[in-house]
Amino acid sequence: MTIRELLSARKPTLSYELFPPRTPAAESTLEATMRMLVDTDPDFISITYGAAGATRDTSRGVVQKLASSHTIPPLAHLTCVDQSRDEVIQVIEEYLEEGVLDFLALRGDPPAGQADWQPHPDGLRYAHELVTLLRQVAHAHGIDNLSIGVAAFPAQHVLPQWRDQGLQVLRSKQDAGADFAITQVFYDIGHYTSLVEDARAEGITIPIIPEVMPLVTAQRAHRAAQITGVATPAEIIADLEAAEDNATARAAGVAHAARLSCGLLDAGAPGIHVITFNKHEAAMDLVTELPLR
Ligand code: FAD
Repeated sequence: MTIRELLSARKPTLSYELFPPRTPAAESTLEATMRMLVDTDPDFISITYGAAGATRDTSRGVVQKLASSHTIPPLAHLTCVDQSRDEVIQVIEEYLEEGVLDFLALRGDPPAGQADWQPHPDGLRYAHELVTLLRQVAHAHGIDNLSIGVAAFPAQHVLPQWRDQGLQVLRSKQDAGADFAITQVFYDIGHYTSLVEDARAEGITIPIIPEVMPLVTAQRAHRAAQITGVATPAEIIADLEAAEDNATARAAGVAHAARLSCGLLDAGAPGIHVITFNKHEAAMDLVTELPLR
């Protein structure tokens, strides 16, 4: 079943995000993590897509392995970064041949060391163009049940200077054929409900799945804020810093993530997408606290 079909069943989904391993040791950690996560019966697992060619090949490998094992459907992240339109088409076609039907269409982050995002001279500029291209390529191959997700940004939405542009952009992704959205990380239920309410008022009807990140060290909390631009609440940092050992820190981080997730489900969220950092412990601790499985 595709994610679009799962979401139309209106039963909250459980899903995880993994990133492509960069070393052989990281590869075996990922294998072990995947085996553990599969036991929680997730609806799908998403695999991020990096800016460098080597990690892209690894992403494709992880997606293809999941697709061919027929255990958990993979959600393949795809970006517009540093690839011509023809190269993107080639990647899409390879995935379609493997039976991958779920894609997360993103513009992508700039490669490391590059401050601003620059489109490839023969490439795509915005995520909504990638949604259109995915639909076109699938159609050319006689596939009409593709399921396409896009990014949404609750923490940015509550900043008045971003609100209208963010809604317009999300609307353009829906108009291009997006079936659902997954949010960037955030820590305030009100940010999510405000985005969803305003989106509905603008005619944006696609389900918006919140992303939740259980933070297990203060260092990771600082790093997450740096990467996403979303400040980690001082209360979470304080609890992580006060923890005497790793187990206490993990319990504190999971408790914060569980409170947020339960509040989101109560507010009608169509599922919870858990960031794992390729480790199963915190993600699985979190899942045991949720009314999902
Ligand atoms: P877009 O929707 O294209 O927006 C990019 C910028 O262009 C925004 O500032 C937007 O306001 C502006 N814009 C869009 N359309 C228009 C228009 N028509 N006219 C003028 N301006 C416009 N990055 C990766 O590299 N790999 C990943 O695997 C990855 N996974 C992610 C998963 C999730 C759930 C999320 C939330 C983000 C992920 N990202 C990933 C990061 C994402 O690529 C960046 O946040 C990126 O900066 C924005 O991507 P987007 O798809 O929202 O782009």
